[in-house]
Amino acid sequence: MKALDSHSGSYAWQSILKGREVLLKGAKWRVGSGESINVWLDAWLPSLDHPRIQSPIVEGFEDIKVQDLIDPVTHSWDDCLIWGFFNNQEVSLIKSIPLWPTPVADKLTWPFNASGTYTVKSGYKFLAREVLHNRSPRHSDHNSELWKMIWGLDVQNKIKNFVWRSSKEAIPVKKNLKRRKILNEGTCDHCGQAEESVLHAIWECSKLSPIWDAIPDFSFRQARSFADIKELLLYVSNACNKVDLMVVIMWNIWFRRNQLRVSNKDHPISQVIPTSQQALTDYQQASNVQRAQRVTSPPTQVAWHPPPDGCLKINFDGATFNDINKVGLGVVIRDGFGQVLASLSEQIQLPFSSNLVEAMAAARALSFVAELGFSRFILEGDLELIIKALQSKEESLAPFGHILAAAKTTVDVNCVSFTHIRRLGNAVAYNLAKHARHVAGLQVWMEDVPPHLYSVLLTDHS
Ligand SMILES: [Zn+2]
Repeated sequence: MKALDSHSGSYAWQSILKGREVLLKGAKWRVGSGESINVWLDAWLPSLDHPRIQSPIVEGFEDIKVQDLIDPVTHSWDDCLIWGFFNNQEVSLIKSIPLWPTPVADKLTWPFNASGTYTVKSGYKFLAREVLHNRSPRHSDHNSELWKMIWGLDVQNKIKNFVWRSSKEAIPVKKNLKRRKILNEGTCDHCGQAEESVLHAIWECSKLSPIWDAIPDFSFRQARSFADIKELLLYVSNACNKVDLMVVIMWNIWFRRNQLRVSNKDHPISQVIPTSQQALTDYQQASNVQRAQRVTSPPTQVAWHPPPDGCLKINFDGATFNDINKVGLGVVIRDGFGQVLASLSEQIQLPFSSNLVEAMAAARALSFVAELGFSRFILEGDLELIIKALQSKEESLAPFGHILAAAKTTVDVNCVSFTHIRRLGNAVAYNLAKHARHVAGLQVWMEDVPPHLYSVLLTDHS
């Protein structure tokens, strides 16, 4: 990987300094034209476990690019080549990668979250996954239980990250700095009695007794010793359900330790517990409120609404027919009176993710309006991820980003807006997509929908 697209967002770039190595291991190509991707060496298959070709390199074809596997005339996968080179599983993965007739660039993306951009959290998840894959099965259960527990804690993300790094011995305690030859000695500055390991710095140091001994749930500290933070966390998660409190205190101990090193300000040790308890209560109350709001807030705009006068509204949706390896796309165009100007059902090859189906439906909707010559309209769908990507001025790095970007070039974005609606309000488009099961290729209805959808159409008018 030479460089990532600079549009991948400032948050991504901030994280890259830390995440670059992670990125190098986990990034994956999103196939556009295929000209930048080496077939045998690069990660480009839509599979998290096997993103690279496993089939042996074919002699004489060592340097071929993914572009060479695409028929330049039909813009589809060259069946002769791919069946000749790869095993069945790889062939079906390749065939699930959508190809687009307009030229788009290949992009390096991050496959471990839906938007395709790198975040610290998804980076850590990926690393945790790598760690699990590289471990013997005996250890994997032990660690996956721990990672799951850490990511499931009801504490701030910065604290989860801190605990995760502590568990991997990856915070800059003196022992680690000495090992990396940054310091000459590794003795704890607080007690002066032992080497400052991660466990020592946030748990074992005798100077921390006023904190840990004040909480009865952690009284086992006097009696038990642990090899590392991992062992301690697993013990606590089984023994009592105070892991949330424990890790917040650990974070505050670490924060205080670092403050004492850089500032002369007083950080009384007696403040660590009340500060931690307050922070935990505040955070958990706020996240409970958020959860409750997510559940109880009334759904916005469930019913379909006609567009304002002089404007059209286009609804789109996708439906998946796994049993026949196909998907359906549905599009309906209506005016300000709710009258149908045109509708469409189309059946196409199954792509590798449901988000892609939705993106292809959006792209089909845009090309449909362009074919009919309409220019001022609202495009409405029920998958928020797709609508957000359409609204954004930057190209999304998600697996569907290039499809949306290519489709947007066919319309004048100044006259178009993109809105999200709940599934209930998108019933006509959804039923058109479902209807594609019975359509050979493409079917279009002018000023009409298929008769069995009249009742669905009427529901939108009431
Ligand atoms: Zn100490």
